[in-house]
Amino acid sequence: MPEPAPGVLRGLGISPGRAAGRVHTMAGPPLLPAPVPVADTDAETARAVRGLESAAGELAARAQGAADPTAREILEAQAMIAADPMLRESVEQRVAAGSDAAHAIDAACAEQREALLAVGGYIAERASDLDDVRNRAVAAVLGLPMPGLPSPGHPFILAAGDLAPADTVNLDPGVVLALVTEKGGPTSHTAILARALGIPAVVACPGILSVADGTWASVDGDAGEVRTGIDERTAADVERAARADRDRLASSTGPGRTADGHPVKLLLNIGSAADVPAGSPGEGVGLFRSEFLFLDRRTAPSHEEQTRAYEDVLRAFPDAAVVVRTLDAGTDKPLPFLGLPEEHNPALGVRGLRVARRSPEVLDAQLDALAEAARASGASPWVMAPMVTTAGEAADFARRARVRGITHVGAMVEVPAAALHADRLLAELDFLSIGTNDLSQYTFAADRQHGELADLLDPWQPALLQLIERCAEAGRAAGKPVGVCGEAAADPLLATVLVGLGVTSLSMSARSVPAVRDALARHSLGQCREHARLALTAADPGAARAAVREAAAA
Ligand code: PEP
Ligand code: MG
Repeated sequence: MPEPAPGVLRGLGISPGRAAGRVHTMAGPPLLPAPVPVADTDAETARAVRGLESAAGELAARAQGAADPTAREILEAQAMIAADPMLRESVEQRVAAGSDAAHAIDAACAEQREALLAVGGYIAERASDLDDVRNRAVAAVLGLPMPGLPSPGHPFILAAGDLAPADTVNLDPGVVLALVTEKGGPTSHTAILARALGIPAVVACPGILSVADGTWASVDGDAGEVRTGIDERTAADVERAARADRDRLASSTGPGRTADGHPVKLLLNIGSAADVPAGSPGEGVGLFRSEFLFLDRRTAPSHEEQTRAYEDVLRAFPDAAVVVRTLDAGTDKPLPFLGLPEEHNPALGVRGLRVARRSPEVLDAQLDALAEAARASGASPWVMAPMVTTAGEAADFARRARVRGITHVGAMVEVPAAALHADRLLAELDFLSIGTNDLSQYTFAADRQHGELADLLDPWQPALLQLIERCAEAGRAAGKPVGVCGEAAADPLLATVLVGLGVTSLSMSARSVPAVRDALARHSLGQCREHARLALTAADPGAARAAVREAAAA
């Protein structure tokens, strides 16, 4: 068979590294055949119910096998949708009215989907969870393969429209060489997963779904480029070079510093002590997302339980700083035990530190537990609050922490108002940590989960970089640390820009540390400052990336 003509597809590189192999596309949703008349209603009802049960069982099993607590939570919620008695009743009614099992499930799910979309906001986003349930149940009824990962029997580049959590939790980085999706953005589930697994990934890549299964291709997760129709020899060359890159990174150790020795702390983002790898590559913890411990809880965690959880993390880093973020509830991180009412516009509502307006006792209980964990472990934790917006909020938070003996108190900068008043926040606090995921969302008025708005959420946006520069300047003037703990910190090339802007630490998943360390080690502070200047003055994120990449290559 002749090789297809080589082509270049462009998207957003959101997980660095290169890979080459054959492309295989994720099995799509099952297509409904023409309706069939139902002869035996009871048997057809039983078939439909088995389909729903099979979807629920499969999702529950995947939830159990999920190491990541967020993924587990999403999968459990999906399994509950599949097992929902109302959904089942609606399916049964449709079969009783003459529909076959597959069409009954499809129509019942479509009806619920409409209802979710009508509510809008966060609830409407659950529609895609329902679609996944529908696809699995229909596939089970029709005896089709469950939609999901292909298994061609050799390592491959996974192409997909977008990746649902159910598709990705059990993804094996030894088999999936790279991820390329047509949709998705820099903070999408695909992006976070790819970085956590350390595999190259390109999202928002139009055309990838038209690439035939088995086509040889190379993926460049830094440049956001997919070359299709390459020959097998070229693919082998790319893989060899990628292996050499990986070996070089694996051998790089030690603290973060630029080529001329300017220190930049490389810290870890974790959700529990279990996320701290053996021989941890970081110099401490820059973001301990404490809410991950309590995401699936219906009752408030006890003082003892909280204390133990914080102590575990503090003891894992006896000689290094651990920055504990107080509970970040709301929007994409529901904490049922807080009993927060539904919000019309949850991302702009009572979330993060704002929960303390309603329930200050929850924040105080957390700070009490952290103070006790500090005493018990002999550590001196840093604590910061999410979604701080004003200097007044910062002062109140600092007072609550300091009366409990916590000496390093800071805030996340996730809201433009906080960035604009970074100097006033630092008058109250000891440090700032910039959460670029939310800072992008609020600066560009673009939902961080929204695949279609990926370009606005691109952390190379010059306006975002300008806010970061403002925070770093405030830090320099006050002589206090200002770090970045959003996903932007995990992009090796962007890391050089952030350091050039004056950021003093970068916090990321453990897998991302070696590539960022390597990028910093290859550039002097002067070069980082030049990268920052180029990115700040670029017209848009694409131009910023291109200018910095060119300067780095030179
Ligand atoms: C951020 O918003 O950048 C951040 C690090 O917090 P999270 O992703 O947990 O909201
Ligand atoms: Mg955030």
